[in-house]
Amino acid sequence: MKIRKIASFTVLVWICLVSFSFLWNYSTASKEQERVALESSKTLFKYINITRLWNSQHAAVYVPVTEKTPPNPYIDSSSRDIKINDELTLTQINPAYMIQQISDLALKQNGIQFHFTSLTPVNPANRPTELEAKILKEFQNGLTEKGVFITKNNQPYYFYMAPVYTDKSCFSCHPKPNLLHNNIGGGISIISSSIMRIPFGELFFGHIIISIVGLFVIFLTYRKLRNAYKIIQKQASIDELTGIPNRRVFSEHIRTEFKRHQRDKQPLSVIMCDIDHFKAFNDTYGHLAGDNCLTKVAQTIQHSLKRPVDFCARYGGEEFIILLPETEQSGAKHFAETVRQEVEALNMQNDKAFHHIITISLGVATSTKNNPLTSYEKLINQADQALYKAKEQGRNQVQTYKP
Ligand code: GH3
Ligand code: MG
Ligand code: MG
Repeated sequence: MKIRKIASFTVLVWICLVSFSFLWNYSTASKEQERVALESSKTLFKYINITRLWNSQHAAVYVPVTEKTPPNPYIDSSSRDIKINDELTLTQINPAYMIQQISDLALKQNGIQFHFTSLTPVNPANRPTELEAKILKEFQNGLTEKGVFITKNNQPYYFYMAPVYTDKSCFSCHPKPNLLHNNIGGGISIISSSIMRIPFGELFFGHIIISIVGLFVIFLTYRKLRNAYKIIQKQASIDELTGIPNRRVFSEHIRTEFKRHQRDKQPLSVIMCDIDHFKAFNDTYGHLAGDNCLTKVAQTIQHSLKRPVDFCARYGGEEFIILLPETEQSGAKHFAETVRQEVEALNMQNDKAFHHIITISLGVATSTKNNPLTSYEKLINQADQALYKAKEQGRNQVQTYKP
């Protein structure tokens, strides 16, 4: 059925739309996650770099020597340590050492790791990781920053790295040839574990609920449409006055049955019926009584059909047609005679008619295996000719077609 196809198509379109919405929302959330991670890393970088600048601008920043802050062996300076008294010795903190200490604190408190590194570090502990070394080389080729999601110990992290540019304060520790091109001394990397969560579950189940609600609405609409379609179809196939099938449905029916007859070689009979002197009936008893008479005759014909394959329809004004599949001419003639008798038995008065009651004339035609017709139109035409003969020979009778 066409409505079924439309419903299936609507379901398909709905599922595609919901899937598209899910993917679009998920992709937007992913982009937002990356944007937030990049922006927050950039901010962190700015602050850590300012702290580094502050340190290097002072040339020498001193803090007390403690267990956690031993003198840095990679600071090659005679003024690295300053002994104040027996309990207090100050030691110089350079930017790399300072960032290392801040990183230890940040890692403990916020899960953020800073790494100040270079391709040629003074302290081997500040050697770049494989990823950092690769990015440092890309900085030399003009890259200005790099942010990427990474996985460490099955945990997601955001990795961000930007270059650190040198100024003259750097050369107190670093010899000039160690610097990279473009004044890039190295870079600071930031590994952050606080990544904005993508609400996958909410998105997924939200869309599942939306799709189920949509499918339910489609199903309800489909059911309503299907019922309405059935009613319309019935209305379009039933003759309004008599309540039996109309000529349009008969045409569809005979086309199918004629094809089946040609295929199966089973006989196919058609009976054409016409009410006798019906104009006189109308003239005598009025149009309304005429309508009533038509309905009674139609119902009588319909009730006389015995097999489910038999079919009757109102063919024209006071003409009816009966289709009898798998019926020989003799059987059809016998059936036509039964119908004639049943209409006669209605005993409806028609004073101006020859028999003074309502009667019908019937013409029978059959297409058989031995004498097949080439089209159903010919079969109807032959039944019509037989009906004409029945009228000619006095009405209220059955005639079969004879060539
Ligand atoms: P015959 O015996 O030769 O068939 O004569 P007849 O009067 O039945 O045939 P004719 O073709 O002269 O007239 C048919 C009449 O049927 C004319 C028309 O008014 C009437 N008729 C056709 N359709 C309807 C209908 O829907 N309602 C009513 N009341 N009359 C109808
Ligand atoms: Mg007629
Ligand atoms: Mg008539």
